[in-house]
Amino acid sequence: MELREKACEILRRLRREYPSPKVALNFNTPFELLVATILSAQTTDVHVNKVTENLFKKYRSVKDYADTPIENLQKDVSSVNFYKTKARNIQGTARMIIEKFHSEVPKTMDDLISLPGVARKTANIVLSNVYGIDEGIAVDTHVKRVSYRLGLTKNEDPVRSERDLMAITPREEWGNLSHLLIFHGRKICQAKKPKHQECVLYDICPSNKI
Ligand code: SF4
Repeated sequence: MELREKACEILRRLRREYPSPKVALNFNTPFELLVATILSAQTTDVHVNKVTENLFKKYRSVKDYADTPIENLQKDVSSVNFYKTKARNIQGTARMIIEKFHSEVPKTMDDLISLPGVARKTANIVLSNVYGIDEGIAVDTHVKRVSYRLGLTKNEDPVRSERDLMAITPREEWGNLSHLLIFHGRKICQAKKPKHQECVLYDICPSNKI
C-alpha cells in the first residue's frame, strides 16, 4: 500500500474507533490552553487538568500571570515536573503577549514559537484547537511512537516526523491525525505493551509483532 493511501486508511479506521477526538486538556481561553500545554510537557494531561482547575480560578487574565511574584506561580504549579522552569516560561509568555501582541495569543507559528517555552508542538496545539488553523501536526510522544511503528515515518525526531506526516496527509486532517494517534497510543499502542491483538490497524502495521 502506498504511504498516502495507508495514511488515509489509518485515519478512516481510527476515526471509526474514536469518533470525537479532541484535546484532553481543559481550558476556557486561548491563553489557558497555552498555559496547560506548557505545563503538560513530561506530565500527564490528567494531572495538568487537576492543577489547572485551581490555577484558572486564581489567575483570571494574562495580566494576572504577568504580575504575580514568580514564587507564587511556582508554588501554584509545584506538583508538575520542571515546575520552576515552566512557571518562568508561563510568566515570560504572559509578559511578552502583553508587550508585543496586545494581550492576545498570537495566531501564527512564527509569533507563537517566539514565546518562551513554546515550540512547534505547543504552537500546533494552540493554532489547531483554538483558531482552527492547521499549520502543522502536533507531534507528542504518542504521535511520534505510533506513527513510527506504523511505518508512516522513519524518523523518531519530532520535527522530522511532523514533516513526514504532513507530506502524506491532507492539510484538513492534520489536527485530527494528531488527536487520533494520541488516543490510539494511550488506549492500544502503548509504549511498553502494545495491544496488537486488539488493534484495528493490525493487518497494515509493520510492527505488529514487536
Ligand atoms: S499493531 Fe501493534 S504496533 Fe501496530 S499500531 Fe497496533 S498496537 Fe501499535
